[in-house]
Amino acid sequence: MITLRNVCDLEGKKGTHTLFSKEHIDIDATGLTVMPALIDAHVHFRTPGMEHKENWISAARAALYGGITTVFDMPNTIPPTISIERIVEKKALIDKQIQESGVPLRYYLYLGADKAHLDEIKKAKDHVIGIKVFMGSSTGGLVMDDAVSLRKVFSLAADYDLIVSVHAEDEKLIEKRKKQYARERNPRVHSLIRSREGACMATKQAIDLARTYKTRLFLLHIGTKEELQLILQAKEEGLSVYAETTPHHLFLTEDAYDIWGTKVQMNPPLRQKEDCEALWQAIGDGIIDSIGSDHAPHTQEEKDQPYGKAPSGIPGVETTLPLLLHAHHEGRISLQKVVCLMKENLEKIFRLPPSDDVLLVDLNKKRQVEKHKLHTKCGWSPYEGQILQGVLSYVIAQGKIYDIR
Ligand SMILES: [Zn+2]
Repeated sequence: MITLRNVCDLEGKKGTHTLFSKEHIDIDATGLTVMPALIDAHVHFRTPGMEHKENWISAARAALYGGITTVFDMPNTIPPTISIERIVEKKALIDKQIQESGVPLRYYLYLGADKAHLDEIKKAKDHVIGIKVFMGSSTGGLVMDDAVSLRKVFSLAADYDLIVSVHAEDEKLIEKRKKQYARERNPRVHSLIRSREGACMATKQAIDLARTYKTRLFLLHIGTKEELQLILQAKEEGLSVYAETTPHHLFLTEDAYDIWGTKVQMNPPLRQKEDCEALWQAIGDGIIDSIGSDHAPHTQEEKDQPYGKAPSGIPGVETTLPLLLHAHHEGRISLQKVVCLMKENLEKIFRLPPSDDVLLVDLNKKRQVEKHKLHTKCGWSPYEGQILQGVLSYVIAQGKIYDIR
């Protein structure tokens, strides 16, 4: 049994909290708040094929230091996770690396939708958390932008009661805009090439497919206020449509290009301040169901290339909780809401067994984000230098205590 004395709960009430463990440990948790450990339902841990950017040893440690004890990993690896065979191979690799990391990280894998491998959906259905569809291209080149294949995936997913998680950007519009802005080297152009219109078109198309086939739909990394309207309508209609946003869409705007350049180039791209505000409002209104980091590390050298050559994606698994604790300190979000967005809603949407992992956080302590202290292999963060109030002190996962002060 682990006993936490004088610990505050999410409402700030002091008391004793006990957890199951084989060991008998007594902690004086005066000044600390206990909250459930979090789920990051959107990570790219780059294994196999891009281990120079990240592997599950560095990533599992980064997750632990970010208060995350469960992750959902995306299929755009090399080779991509598009068949049961690849899933089995990937799991074996991951299990080995997690064991080496010494971190008790739970994980679930996505099956990548690929038009040449649609029969894999049936074979893989009991081994994956859902099907990932890239309606617009991103790292790895897993794109499904033709209506026939999309209809098949949504229909098969409904047959097998699988959730479809979608990267909603219209590929044809992206291609058109790429040509239009081909000579432009200012990274700000990324938000024009990957336009809000393109995001809305694809989000609308995904919702229409979910309506037609009665498919459960999870819309990943929503970033525009117009998409929020579409999601609200879908929810009011009673469709099983859920939406995620990311820390970067909440905490950064297009102005970040001026400071960070291609470092803050990601897909879908950064938007305007009014979109950030609309996203915060949508969190309050329950239109946004979850926050996923979209942890998509690339090395500094890769990101320092000029626009057009630099890859898209930023790290985030370790900084999401500190950013949200700081937002809590500023009165923008309650801790209970953080737990809803990064645990309870996800357990419901993805039908996960509940975990009793907990975090002990010190809400009065501040810490600066410093890249050399982060555990991700990529070694940088767009939040570098920010002083954030609210520090993770302990993680208690699967009956073991990790002192990470
Ligand atoms: Zn992603």
